[in-house]
Amino acid sequence: MCAVNHWDHWIEEELRRMAEKDLTRELKMVTESAQPICRRRGKSLLNLSSNNYLGLAGHPQLTDAMREAIGRGVGAGSPSSRLIVGHEEETALLESELASWQESEAALVFGNGYLANLGVLSALLGRDDAVFSDRLNHASIVDGIRLSGATHFRYRHRDLGHLESYLKKADQKGIRRKLIVTDGVFSMDGDLAPLQELVYLKERYGAALFVDEAHSVGVIGVQGRGWAHELEMADQVDLHMGTFSKAFGVYGAYVAGRREWIRYLIHTARSFIYTTALPPVVISAIRRSLQLVRQGDLLRQSLAGKCRYFREELSRAGFQLTDSMTPIIPIMLGESSSAVEFSQRLVECGILAVAIRPPTVPSGEARIRFSLMASHRDEDVREAIRSIVQIGYECKVIG
Ligand code: PMP
Repeated sequence: MCAVNHWDHWIEEELRRMAEKDLTRELKMVTESAQPICRRRGKSLLNLSSNNYLGLAGHPQLTDAMREAIGRGVGAGSPSSRLIVGHEEETALLESELASWQESEAALVFGNGYLANLGVLSALLGRDDAVFSDRLNHASIVDGIRLSGATHFRYRHRDLGHLESYLKKADQKGIRRKLIVTDGVFSMDGDLAPLQELVYLKERYGAALFVDEAHSVGVIGVQGRGWAHELEMADQVDLHMGTFSKAFGVYGAYVAGRREWIRYLIHTARSFIYTTALPPVVISAIRRSLQLVRQGDLLRQSLAGKCRYFREELSRAGFQLTDSMTPIIPIMLGESSSAVEFSQRLVECGILAVAIRPPTVPSGEARIRFSLMASHRDEDVREAIRSIVQIGYECKVIG
């Protein structure tokens, strides 16, 4: 009883400390969250916080695909992990379609992107290995590395000199194998990984390269194949990861690469082996979404045009932006309290754009992370920019 009180006290203290630093969060109820305009407490809000970049999450073809699958009798759930009962034909078809779209030998579906990163990194790396990871890589990469027990070199964001100094250091330490891992698009800054240079360094130092394309597949490159394909370097990346939860508008993730690597992951990635497979109804929606993503060049063009306009207007107004070249467009506000206030003011103006605070971003780098969708109307984007600039003046963020 006494121990329980001790825990209660500690948890209350932790929450109080977070509140003092403006770091507490609330789970807010929202309806029509897949649409460009969602509703919260009956109020319509322009959704500038969604990863549904192509607007596919609300696409009728995806819900039709799910209905058709239910009609074929697949049921609601999934019976087990794939290595136990097996998988429906749809899953095998999806994996071969993914491999052909990614122009790789094979692909493997995971429950989600977090699980994919956790599984891949802990399967590939062990205590005698070293991993070189951009400091702004996603939390799932950091957690996968921790789980692996490998020596972790976190290089400064996109700083190739820093990375190279670590690669040299690892050579002196007699490390067994080396892996470089990077986000393709950095999720909180919207900027792009320097893949050409990473490929050069990986070859020079005999490392492998794993790229998380969660925010680039569907959005960048011909047929939405992602950033490595856009640079025509996909075959020099050893393993690609992408999610179905963002541009695809569904849920789940995949890893694509050489056949033996995928076979190895089937035997070793614990987040693949010891978890229930995605339900077939979800697989059906992903397959339909893959078709839409591949045919979506017009959607991608429309999205890129909106993003260019949004970035240019905010930069012209004097906001501090990042090097974003993608639909993720943050404005830097510094302290968490400024970001929270800005976000509240946006809601009053009918805009949903959340404050991103530590620990998601480094201390002193709180921001509003806007993200655009192909399905946003141009007039709504223009109106949003007017409100953001107005609030920027009122909050003295711009002069
Ligand atoms: N990698 C990156 C770069 C991400 O931004 C995310 C999700 N925010 C993930 C992985 C995890 O993907 P999922 O949401 O499918 O678990």
